[in-house]
Amino acid sequence: MIFELSILGCSSAIPVRGRYLSSQILNIRQRYFLIDCGEGTQYRMLDFKIPKSKINKIFISHLHGDHIYGLPGLLSSYNIGNRKKSLNIYGPAGLNPFIENMLDYSYNHLGYELKIITVDHQIPSVVYEDDDVKVTSFPLRHRVPAIGYKFEEKSKLKNIIPEKIEEYSLDYNQIRAAKYGNDIVLSSGVVLKNEEVTLPPKHLRSYAYCSDTAYSKSYIPYIKNADLLYHESTYMANMQEKAKMRGHSTTIDAATAAKKANVGKLILGHYSSRYHNLNPLLEEAKSVFENTELGLDGKKYKVELTTDE
Ligand SMILES: [Zn+2]
Repeated sequence: MIFELSILGCSSAIPVRGRYLSSQILNIRQRYFLIDCGEGTQYRMLDFKIPKSKINKIFISHLHGDHIYGLPGLLSSYNIGNRKKSLNIYGPAGLNPFIENMLDYSYNHLGYELKIITVDHQIPSVVYEDDDVKVTSFPLRHRVPAIGYKFEEKSKLKNIIPEKIEEYSLDYNQIRAAKYGNDIVLSSGVVLKNEEVTLPPKHLRSYAYCSDTAYSKSYIPYIKNADLLYHESTYMANMQEKAKMRGHSTTIDAATAAKKANVGKLILGHYSSRYHNLNPLLEEAKSVFENTELGLDGKKYKVELTTDE
């Protein structure tokens, strides 16, 4: 029941040594969601052993090149690799002609179905939903239309009591049934009530992605109580003026958003290339929101399952 974010790139505008452009993978129960696709994304997937073929959904925040220039190479590689599964890409208006023209002018005829779903950058909406996961979009404040995404677990699976597995020699199917709230019939015919072998439902985990954006109270309700928040922090606090002008955030902005939204953990990222040592950025953010970590290429952030108290 994995819920894990892997950062593939966290540099803004241009790559620097060790930091590629925006891209990350969120693995929710073996569903792999790609979020943004900066140049070099597929190289990073190789570096960090991400199973590229398992990605069926891509979420694009906005159309600045540092968030989408990895798409041409990735879509082409899928084609050369004889991909057959359909691929959905979600993003703001303009994404469709960008991709269509790129494919046309480079004589690329895809052998798999590509669906480009335009997401309204002004109206929050559920953009994707299945039995286990819901993805909601919300407006950010950037120089161009930009979308934030929140990924949430949906189903309230119960928590099996480990000792009961041994006591009744429960097999895979029985454990699965119990997790979904069913009673269990043992081979002896005895029926175990669900309450006997399970604890209350797990906490439903969530992740929010805010990049690129200037700080605004307007998106706080959409990221409220997320276990993990990735919030861009392009600049340090002494560049507040420039950040605002360019539709970006500082470390303090990111930490303020994390605090106001009461998130579990803040991950910084989308750093300006001027910063080589990132520790001062971390220290600044921590002065407002203690549970902050640096986003770094190749770093993984897991959210563990916990039972509700
Ligand atoms: Zn941007």
